Amino acid sequence: MTTANDQLPVDNLLTRAKIGLFVVGSLLLLPVLIPYVLVTESWNERRLRAALRRTACITCGNLLTEKALERVQNEAEESRQAMDRGNTAVRYRMMPRPYIAMCTVCGQAYKWVRERNLLEPVPAEVVAEYTQRQQARAAQATQGEALYPA
Ligand SMILES: [Zn+2]
Repeated sequence: MTTANDQLPVDNLLTRAKIGLFVVGSLLLLPVLIPYVLVTESWNERRLRAALRRTACITCGNLLTEKALERVQNEAEESRQAMDRGNTAVRYRMMPRPYIAMCTVCGQAYKWVRERNLLEPVPAEVVAEYTQRQQARAAQATQGEALYPA
């Protein structure tokens, strides 16, 4: 006859075995998972660039191309640098950008719908709200700089 006390060591052993199996399994899967992620990422990148090349801006008719992507990437880099110039002691969270590309002619923003591989226009209000919040954060970082000059 077993009591609750008899079962406890067995449960611990089983739990340890499960954890051990999970750790070993995860390590064995890494050589498969890492190349999978790398291949998937580069495939997605190629799909996105293809979608950009075949998409005309809904506002001005300009073909988007990679330059629309670069415009947003440069903008992101500039705002990141602006925040870095502020106080380095002030931590800021990265805000996910609601758009991935922006027309180089009229500034219409687009997000990528990965499942359907197409670019969907982002309303100007969404972009304006994001920009406002981003500027408020940059101002906060600059205030930090004024309080603690380097
Ligand atoms: Zn446009």
